[in-house]
Amino acid sequence: MKIDLHSHSTCSDGALTPIELVQRAQQMQVDVLALTDHDTVSGINIAREYLENSNIKLNLIAGVELSTSWHGFDIHIVGLQVDKDCDIFLQRLESQLAERDRRAARICEKLAKCGHLGIYELALEIADGAQISRNHIARALVQKSICTHAQQAFSKYLGKGKKAHVTPKWISIQDAIEWIHDAGGQAVLAHPGHYDMTTKWLRRLVAEFAESGGDAMEITHPNMAADKKKLLQGIMSDNALLASAGSDFHFPSRFTELGRRLDLPQTVTPVWHNWNLATSEEGL
Ligand code: AMP
Ligand code: MN
Ligand code: MN
Ligand code: MN
Repeated sequence: MKIDLHSHSTCSDGALTPIELVQRAQQMQVDVLALTDHDTVSGINIAREYLENSNIKLNLIAGVELSTSWHGFDIHIVGLQVDKDCDIFLQRLESQLAERDRRAARICEKLAKCGHLGIYELALEIADGAQISRNHIARALVQKSICTHAQQAFSKYLGKGKKAHVTPKWISIQDAIEWIHDAGGQAVLAHPGHYDMTTKWLRRLVAEFAESGGDAMEITHPNMAADKKKLLQGIMSDNALLASAGSDFHFPSRFTELGRRLDLPQTVTPVWHNWNLATSEEGL
């Protein structure tokens, strides 16, 4: 089975609508896809409703990606199999979205001080109803020809320590795990290989995540070097966590695609080991 447990839609900072995303998952022969938008579950109903009225055989997992603050790092925790209708969970997500708004406004104030006016308004337009993420602000900077590409927007303005960086006040890792568990889900440490930290800090992060009740961690990415995979797998085993895998798909590109090269080693226990997954042959 082809399983991809990390993806984004236009409900956060992805380029495809939830419907286009599930259509692409079908094209890529993905059997199980988790939609894990940043701090929102608003795309799940749209995708589910579409799937129910189509003949696409896809097992869509309700997910979310929560931003947390940990020792000055932005650490992302993916929630899988969350109850998208859980009232307390939805209320909690609202507070996180309010922080997103506050931060976006402050980033744009800083950009205005650098002489770049009207970025908030343009980012709002680009977000088209979704909460503004730094990705939307980066796209606005590119559209206004202030930056040549999104990566440059991060390296010049939006990244940590750069001109328009604003330290976010996200929830703690412990809160994120509690929110996900209270919504009936499993908590997964997202892309541990992408944080700009030493191996010593990474070990500390994973240990604290596991001690706080975290369930799993992503141990593979399509372009990850073999020695990095080995390191992550070792840290995962040391902390008795389950393994997860996701592409973190935002838009189709040469580097990212749904469900591509996400195989886990035979020896690990996947986060889905006790899920009730039908295969395409059986009919999902
Ligand atoms: P936010 O959640 O608003 O802080 O934005 C984080 C998102 O921005 C991530 O999920 C990525 O999609 C994107 N991102 C973060 N760092 C970079 C970078 N260096 N270059 C391009 N996109 C990035
Ligand atoms: Mn993103
Ligand atoms: Mn992330
Ligand atoms: Mn992501």
